[in-house]
Amino acid sequence: MVFGAQAQTPLALPQLGDGADMSPAAERRLGDRIARELYRDPDYLDDPVIMDYVQRVWQPLLAAAKQRGELPAALEEHFAWQILLGRDRSVNAFALPGGYFGLHLGLVSTVTSKDELASVLAHELSHVTQRHISRLISRQNQQAPWLMGAMILGVLAASKNPGAANAAIIGGQAVAAQNQLNFSRDMEREADRVGFGVMTQAGFEPQGFVSMFDKLQQASRLNDAGGFPYLRSHPLTTERISDMQNRLPLASTNTSSTAAITDDFEQAMVAARAKVLSNSTADDLRSWAAQLSDPRFVTLTPTRQVGILYGSILSAIKLRDFSAASKGLDLLKSRAMNHQAGQRLVYWLAAEFALVQDNPQRARAEWINIPRAPGRPDILLEAQIDIKLGQAKMASDKLQIWVAENPKDAAAWQLLASALLMQGRTVAAIRAEAEVNIAQLNYTDALARLEAAQDSARSGKLRTDYFESSMVDSRLKQVQQILKEQGLER
Ligand SMILES: [Zn+2]
Repeated sequence: MVFGAQAQTPLALPQLGDGADMSPAAERRLGDRIARELYRDPDYLDDPVIMDYVQRVWQPLLAAAKQRGELPAALEEHFAWQILLGRDRSVNAFALPGGYFGLHLGLVSTVTSKDELASVLAHELSHVTQRHISRLISRQNQQAPWLMGAMILGVLAASKNPGAANAAIIGGQAVAAQNQLNFSRDMEREADRVGFGVMTQAGFEPQGFVSMFDKLQQASRLNDAGGFPYLRSHPLTTERISDMQNRLPLASTNTSSTAAITDDFEQAMVAARAKVLSNSTADDLRSWAAQLSDPRFVTLTPTRQVGILYGSILSAIKLRDFSAASKGLDLLKSRAMNHQAGQRLVYWLAAEFALVQDNPQRARAEWINIPRAPGRPDILLEAQIDIKLGQAKMASDKLQIWVAENPKDAAAWQLLASALLMQGRTVAAIRAEAEVNIAQLNYTDALARLEAAQDSARSGKLRTDYFESSMVDSRLKQVQQILKEQGLER
C-alpha cells in the first residue's frame, strides 16, 4: 500500500465484474508459490508479540467481512487469509494472490491506533474479497501463472533494493511490471468503500481511515524516492480523502487525526517493538537511549514515554547493554503496570530479556506474572523457558497440544523439534522439522527430512514408536503428491 507520490497512468482495465476471474483454487496455488519465496526471504519475520497484536485486528475484520457477505464460502475455504510480516521499514501493506498479505514493520511502527491498522488491512482485505487480484492476473496477462508469480516476486525484490543491478526485473522493465500489477481507480474506490464498511462493522473507529491517509501521504512524500513499490496502486488523491471524509458520521467530521490517537500503552509498545525489529542499524538502536535522556522526554505524553521506554529497553537488549535494559525495565514496570494489555507486553519483554541473559529461572518468574489468558506468545515463551530449564518433556507435551490445533505454526514446530531432540526422540524431531518446512510451503526440504526420518526409523537403531513411523510415512506420501502436482502445473 505504498502510496506513490507521482500519478500513475490508469490502466485500461475491463469493467469490474464481467466474470472472467481466475478460479479461487488456481489463485491460491499462485499465492502459495509467492508465499513460499517470502518465507525464505531474510526479511520475513514471525514475531509472536507483533503478530498477536496484528491478529487481534485481523480476525475481527475477517469475521466482519463474513457477516457482511463480502467473503463467499469458496474464497473463505480456498484462501490462506494469512499475514506475513516483513522487516522492511517502508510504510507498506499489500495483498497478494490467494489471500496472502504482506505487512511491513514500517507500517506497524507508524500507526498510532488499532483503528489505523484496521483501515489499511480492511482496504487490502477488500481488494482480495472483491477479486481485484484475480482480475489483474487473468485479464492483463496471457502469461502462465508461474510467470506471473515470478513477476510479482521480481517487483517485490526491486522495491526493496531499487539500486540493485542484479534484480530480476530492472529499470523500465520493473515499471512495466509494476504497471501491470496496479489496481484501477475503480478498484481502489471499491476497496475503500468495502473496507470502510468492514472496519466499522468490526468495531473500529472510522476516523482511523482518515488519519491513516494523512500518515500515508506523509510517508510517500518522505520515502518514495523512485523505487518500485509493489502495487503502487493507491493514488492518494484528494478525491479519495474527501470520499472517506464523507463517509464519517457527521458528529465526528471535526475530529482531527491527532484526536484519534488514544491513550494506548499497548499500541505504543508494539509500534516501538516494530521499529526496533525493522532493519535497525547499531546507530538506530543507540538513538533510543538518546531519546530517553533528552530533556524533552518528560514533556511527552505518558503514552509516548512508554513507547520510547519500551524501544530503548529492546534496543539495549540487542546491543547487549544489560544494565541499561535492566534500569529501563524497572522504570517501564512502574509506568505500565496499571494497564492490563500493556502489562502483558512488559512481562513478555522481561522474560525475553531474562532468556537472552541465559537466566531461565528469572524468565519463569517473570512469565508467571503474565495475566492468564494464554495466547500464542505465552505458549511459545513458556516452551522456550521449559527447554532452557531442561524440562523438555513438559515443553513437548504442551507444544503437541498446540500444534494439533495450529498445524501451520512453524515456530511452534521448531521448538517442538528441539524439545523432542533433547529427549532422544530423533524420528519425531526430524518429522517436526519437516512440519516447519511444510508450514512454510517448502515441500522439497520437507521431503528430504521425511525421507531421512523414514530411513532412521527403518534402521532400527533409533528409539522410535509405531505412531511416529506411520505418521512419517503418511506425511511423506502427502508431500510427494503435492510436489507431483506442482511439477505438473509447470
Ligand atoms: Zn488499494
